[in-house]
Amino acid sequence: MEPSLPAATALPFEHTYAQLPAKFWQRVDPTPVKAPRLLAFNDALATELGITRAADAAEVFAGNKVPAGALPLAMAYAGHQFGHFVPQLGDGRAILMGELIDRHGQRRDLQLKGSGPTAFSRNGDGRAAIGPVLREYLISEAMHALAVPTTRSLAAVATGEHVFRDGPVPGAVLARVAASHIRVGTFQYFAARRDTDGVRQLADHVIARHYPEAAHAARPYLALLEAVARRQAALVAQWQHVGFIHGVMNTDNTTLSGETIDYGPCAFLDDYDPGKVFSSIDRAGRYSFANQPALVRWNVARLAETLLAVIDDDGETALAAASAVIEAMPAWSAAAWLDGMRAKLGLSTAEDGDEALAKDLLEAMHAVAADYTLVFRALCDVAAGREPEGLLSLPRSPAFEAWRARWAERLAGDPRTVAERAAAMRAANPAVIPRNHRVHEALVAAEQGDLAPFEALLAAIRRPFDDGPQAQPFMVPPEPAQRVLQTFCGT
Ligand code: AMP
Ligand code: MG
Repeated sequence: MEPSLPAATALPFEHTYAQLPAKFWQRVDPTPVKAPRLLAFNDALATELGITRAADAAEVFAGNKVPAGALPLAMAYAGHQFGHFVPQLGDGRAILMGELIDRHGQRRDLQLKGSGPTAFSRNGDGRAAIGPVLREYLISEAMHALAVPTTRSLAAVATGEHVFRDGPVPGAVLARVAASHIRVGTFQYFAARRDTDGVRQLADHVIARHYPEAAHAARPYLALLEAVARRQAALVAQWQHVGFIHGVMNTDNTTLSGETIDYGPCAFLDDYDPGKVFSSIDRAGRYSFANQPALVRWNVARLAETLLAVIDDDGETALAAASAVIEAMPAWSAAAWLDGMRAKLGLSTAEDGDEALAKDLLEAMHAVAADYTLVFRALCDVAAGREPEGLLSLPRSPAFEAWRARWAERLAGDPRTVAERAAAMRAANPAVIPRNHRVHEALVAAEQGDLAPFEALLAAIRRPFDDGPQAQPFMVPPEPAQRVLQTFCGT
C-alpha cells in the first residue's frame, strides 16, 4: 500500500524490517497535526544520515508529509513492565518510516514518536507532550556526547495541538534514529504466542543486522544471546560510569542492538546514592542506580527464554547453554564496570586492589552525599598536581582523606606521566551532565514557548568534557530547593 499523505522530497529508505511477515507490524500512516513547527533539528546527525534540512522539515518530521520511499509502520512487541508480563504492547504512538544507510554504511531506523494512534495504542492518544519529547532529545544527545550507545534525536516538532495529561499541554513529535527498534519485548511477543517460526525469523533478522559474526557460530542463536548479554552488560556499566539511571529498564525498553532507548523517568545522579530511584512509580527500588546490572540481567534472561526453542532441539541442552550465558553476566558486568572505573581514576594498568579502591571511593562519597560528577572531575585536577577549588573542592572527611592517600600511592606505581594521566582522566570524567534541575527548568520554559534555556543546555551537554567558562553554570549542582525528586513516565 502506498502512503496516502502528501509526499515530500524522497528519502532513500530501505525496508528490511517490513520484509518480515505481516504479523511483525501494522502498516499505518502518521496522523497529520494542525501546525507543525520545528523546535529542534540536529544538523550534524542529519549530515551523518545524508539528509539536509529541507524547507518542509517541520511537516516531514511531524508526519504531515510522508517522504516518497517511506513505508510507515508500527512494530509489534510485548514486554515485562515492573515484572509483569504484557503480551501486547507495540508501537502505540510511534511509527517507523524506514531505514537509512548512514555515511558509515550503518543501517539506521527513522521513527516518529508521538505521530498518532496505531493498532497498538490501546487507550492511549498516540501522542507525546513537548516536555517528554525535549527531555528525550536532550538526554539522548547528552548520552551520545558521553559516548554511551543510544538512540539519537533528529528533530523535535511542535504540533500546534494540545495533548491531555494532567491537564492540556502542548504536543510534539520526536524524530528518533536508532540502530534498530527491536527489543527483548519483540522476541517475547512471538514467544508468548508459541510462534517459534516468528522467533527464528526475528533472530535471523537481528543477526544479519547487528551480529553477523553469530551466523558462523556453531549455535547462532546462542551466539546471539551471548552477544546481546555482553553488549547490555557493557551498556549498563557505562550508565553507571556517568551516573545515569534509566528509570524504566523493562524488557520492552531493552534493545537487541545494545543502545539505550526510551528516555522516560530517567535522570543523572547529583549526589552519589546507590539506592537512588527517580520514577514516581518505583517504590520498591527495582530501578535504582545500583540495581541496574541485576535488572538488565533479568531482562536478558527473559530474552534467553524466548530463544530456547531455537537454540537447540533438545530442551535440556538449550536450557543449559542459555543458563550458562545468564550465569556469566554478573562477571561481564563487573569487568566492564571496573574497566571504566580504572579509566575514571586514571589507572592505566590493572591491579588486584583496584576494585576495592573504586568501591571505597563511592562509599566515601555516599557517606557525605558528595556530587558524583564533580568529585571525579576534581580528581582530574588532583592528578594534574593542582588542589581543586571552588565548585570542584573535594569533600573533607577522614574516609575521604584516607582514600586520597591510597589513590596517590596507587598512582605512584602507574606508568603514565602526570600530563598523560590528567588528559586521559579529563576525557573520561565529564564536567557537564544534563542535571535534573537544569532539564526541568529548560522544559518548563519550553512549554511556555521559551526555547532559550533548552538551547543553552543542549549546547553545554554537547561538549561534556569541556569545563570552560560557558560550561560553569551547567556544572553547578542543585540547591536543596532546586532538587527534582522524581521524574515522570514519558507520556
Ligand atoms: P513507554 O512507557 O513509552 O515505554 O510505553 C509503553 C507502552 O505504552 C508502549 O506500547 C507505548 O507505545 C504505549 N504508549 C505510551 N504512551 C502512549 C500514548 N500516549 N498513546 C498510545 N500508546 C502509548
Ligand atoms: Mg518503551
